[in-house]
Amino acid sequence: MNFSTRVTSVEPSATLAVSTLASELEADGVDVVDLSVGEPDFDTPENIVDAGKAAMDAGHTGYAPSNGVPELRDAIAEKLQGDGLDYEAGNVIVTPGAKQALYETFQAVVDEGDEVALLDPAWVSYEAMAKLAGGELNRVDLAPHDFQLEPALDDLADAVSDDTELLVVNSPSNPTGAVYSRAAMEGVRDLAVDHDITVISDEIYQRVNYGPAHVSLAGLDGMFERTVTINGFSKAYSMTGWRLGYLAGPEALVGQAGKVQSHSVSSAANFIQRAGVEAIRHTDDAIDEMVAAFESRRDLLVDLFAEHGTDVSTPDGAFYLMLPVADDDQAWCQDALKDAHVATVPGSAFGAPGYARLSYAASTDRLEAAVDRLAAEGYL
Ligand code: PMP
Repeated sequence: MNFSTRVTSVEPSATLAVSTLASELEADGVDVVDLSVGEPDFDTPENIVDAGKAAMDAGHTGYAPSNGVPELRDAIAEKLQGDGLDYEAGNVIVTPGAKQALYETFQAVVDEGDEVALLDPAWVSYEAMAKLAGGELNRVDLAPHDFQLEPALDDLADAVSDDTELLVVNSPSNPTGAVYSRAAMEGVRDLAVDHDITVISDEIYQRVNYGPAHVSLAGLDGMFERTVTINGFSKAYSMTGWRLGYLAGPEALVGQAGKVQSHSVSSAANFIQRAGVEAIRHTDDAIDEMVAAFESRRDLLVDLFAEHGTDVSTPDGAFYLMLPVADDDQAWCQDALKDAHVATVPGSAFGAPGYARLSYAASTDRLEAAVDRLAAEGYL
């Protein structure tokens, strides 16, 4: 069989190598502390689960309108308006996961040979999605700036030009946990307007923020017409397996991306969208509890590393931390897994060699065990 260059040019997910090795060890009876996964360790709040069951019982099991059921598109538009963004229901496409919303946006915006700018370290799938759309990557490294965007604005200004079609901004960031300042976002706005760049603002960790106030790019002057806002339910509501997310953008974008959705996945599942309405409207307290837990785990982990003489830059959001490790971070991650039985993801997978990404969406006991084991085996 012959395969397309488009698909063969894409690497399988880098976390796969780690999780395969971790599964092999677990199959041999080894207790692995898995800090490689990007998912909250909480159950989906009960009110949401109940709403999903009730929706099935009520017969919401057939096809849904492709862009989403009106009740959820309305609830999402209201939520976004509450954030100061001018979106109406017609600006929203409900998708099976934020990943699909991103995929549709790349397909709708990027032509063969178009330049796509990423801020490194960047979540692994942006690169794959850019390549699948035929885009050429242009990467700006935030690592020398403590993973912050504001001090890297000059680098970004040097990197982008009228040839840049799309820029992806993700705050709070996976993998660094950085939350970009208002000044940083205004800097992005100035460049995007100057060079007529479309911007994806991936806000999936918006609620998981214990740092500076989150700034939505679409709310800045001159940005509504050029921004695609991405968000979803996986992280904030601990709903990773439900596969529910959305994009919001100008109506013309909704028209184009909606074609990709209708000719591929058709829609997000009907009854799951009903549970999404409950999540948006009635789950604030549960989110606050989860976010408070992530923050105290973040503090614990930063303190534990400091006790072992390892300084990490304190992340302000999401539930990830970048640990400085050996130059060969891939070997470090494999060895740390084999010797200390702690699973992490090599930073080079995100364009940040020399680091390992740790997820602290794990109990405090497991986090303490992870640091103890790494220290005992000489990895700290
Ligand atoms: N964006 C970022 C930055 C992510 O980390 C993830 C999940 N790992 C997604 C988008 C996609 O999330 P989902 O498809 O589960 O909504």
